Amino acid sequence: MDTYKIAVIPGDGIGKEVVPAAIEVLDEVAKLDGSFQFQWTYFPWGCDYYLEHGEMMPDNGLEVLKQYDQIFLGAVGMPELVPDHISLWGLLIKIRRGMKQSINVRPAKLLQGLESPLKNPHDFDITVVRENSEGEYSDSGGRIHSGNDEIAIQNAIFTRKSTERAMRYAFELAQDSRKHVTSATKSNGLTYSMPFWDEVFNAVKTDYPEIDTSVTHIDALAAFFVMKPQAFDIIVASNLFGDILTDLGGAIMGSIGIAPAANLNIEREYPSMFEPVHGSAPDIAGKGIANPIGQIWTGKMMLDFLGHSEAGTRVLNAIEKVLASGVKTRDLGGSSSLEEVKAAIIQSL
Ligand code: ATP
Ligand code: MG
Repeated sequence: MDTYKIAVIPGDGIGKEVVPAAIEVLDEVAKLDGSFQFQWTYFPWGCDYYLEHGEMMPDNGLEVLKQYDQIFLGAVGMPELVPDHISLWGLLIKIRRGMKQSINVRPAKLLQGLESPLKNPHDFDITVVRENSEGEYSDSGGRIHSGNDEIAIQNAIFTRKSTERAMRYAFELAQDSRKHVTSATKSNGLTYSMPFWDEVFNAVKTDYPEIDTSVTHIDALAAFFVMKPQAFDIIVASNLFGDILTDLGGAIMGSIGIAPAANLNIEREYPSMFEPVHGSAPDIAGKGIANPIGQIWTGKMMLDFLGHSEAGTRVLNAIEKVLASGVKTRDLGGSSSLEEVKAAIIQSL
């Protein structure tokens, strides 16, 4: 029997509610599968920890996390008491960069039983592979005064290594999917970064002759997401483009409360971090009404990454069955509580 040591960081707000619910579901599917089990170790890091200790996680936090197979995270943020840049840079970005989680994978798929603003919604099944460590979200730039004008400069940084890594991962995923990769570009407007992006894409695709490809400008791609989603399978995008596309994906899926995500160290040198798209949702925290599906589906992504895709499929099937039966939290138009949704998913497993 394989045992996986998982570092659990519930974090703040609804993270404290959805993480234990997802862990119950994952323990149940492990028990049913019989070939593996989880060993969960909780770390109370986040904004409460910051208010007590003046830092989001201890100094040796990254060293501690390196001893675990994976990290399962809820959400961090308590905007009324801790400025967002402290919670973000003091924990999330610190872990993503420290563990070299340079790829962010975010599936967007309309599940059975959910309503979408789309016309042909059940064709919506797309995975965005987002470069997670550089690009437009670089820390390079500055502000200058020139004459009586003021200028802000933000540099976008694209390394061949990271660009190629994200693209190769997209092609690998496409092999187990519908064998199509779309590159999100904007080389008609961005004259240095995106022509380079296109060049790397053209080089990488020659190694995957069995995979169909297309190249689409990000503005058109956003429109096609809505108008003809069936044209897409795997999309590879830069940090900013991927961020925007996946929020759009969340909206098309019906609620950000169900959108899953993974920050991957694909070399498996360090643990990866599985963390839903949504934040700590302080407006609904502590009420027992948060949707646990984003966190549970994120757990399914962890199962897949650990090589237990059969158990992962079982979890997603259970989620769809529960939604189709009408058991839904308020964000999806239902009236069920977090506990009711969780219990129904465990029952359905
Ligand atoms: P971040 O800054 O981490 O991106 P945010 O403050 O932008 O987070 P969220 O915390 O995700 O955004 O909340 C955005 C909205 O979505 C809120 O109204 C919140 O209540 C709702 N929401 C987020 N997650 C869930 C969930 N799991 N279930 C129900 N509603 C949710
Ligand atoms: Mg926020």
